[in-house]
Amino acid sequence: MNILSVEDEPQLAKHIARALTRSGHTVDSADNGPDALEKALSRAYDLVVLDVNLPGCDGFEILRRIRAADVPSRVLMLTARADVMDRVQGLRSGADDYVTKPFSMDELLARVEVLGRRGGASIPEDMVHIGGIVMEVGKRRVTLQGEVVALSPREFDVLRIFMQEPGRVFSRDEICERIWNREHEYDTRTVEIFIMRLRKKLCAGDEEPLIETVRGVGYKMRRP
Ligand code: CA
Repeated sequence: MNILSVEDEPQLAKHIARALTRSGHTVDSADNGPDALEKALSRAYDLVVLDVNLPGCDGFEILRRIRAADVPSRVLMLTARADVMDRVQGLRSGADDYVTKPFSMDELLARVEVLGRRGGASIPEDMVHIGGIVMEVGKRRVTLQGEVVALSPREFDVLRIFMQEPGRVFSRDEICERIWNREHEYDTRTVEIFIMRLRKKLCAGDEEPLIETVRGVGYKMRRP
């Protein structure tokens, strides 16, 4: 996508531009209100990542002007954590989604990806993201840093257990019961094999695996 990133904090602006570029997007940047407005109105960006507090004029004013000019760009607002009204006001004035500061780059990228794919739909309720993994439960779709991960239906079910309750420890028996529902003879070795396969498929570089072994108990999804 062609993205305009509007952020006045130099370090954060640099991180955002780098993360988006690495994900294959083309990025223009603006660090103040008037420059952002001029760019947003003169070029049809697919997406504008828009900070609220900016020198010159604030993000809401920019959003209002963009919408008033019928610019079709999607808008993702970056709002301050303390200010819940920011979000309400942002969505009411035509933003497509928002990310609350401080946010992780993974979260930002996940939201950018969904906005790109769905043409402006808001984040579905059933979307879970942990680390670089994004799971859309209804669609049974999993991506790792934007790339689709091919999982078998059983692998998906096992991963889902962990994704939906990160930090909780699951014993092998509990996983077996949930997945295989006691319909068949099962053996807890099967769980180990599934965990091994998931770790392999969801390995991002040389990081520690997201699904950790808890010695003598079972497994849990690490919170990154
Ligand atoms: Ca700012």
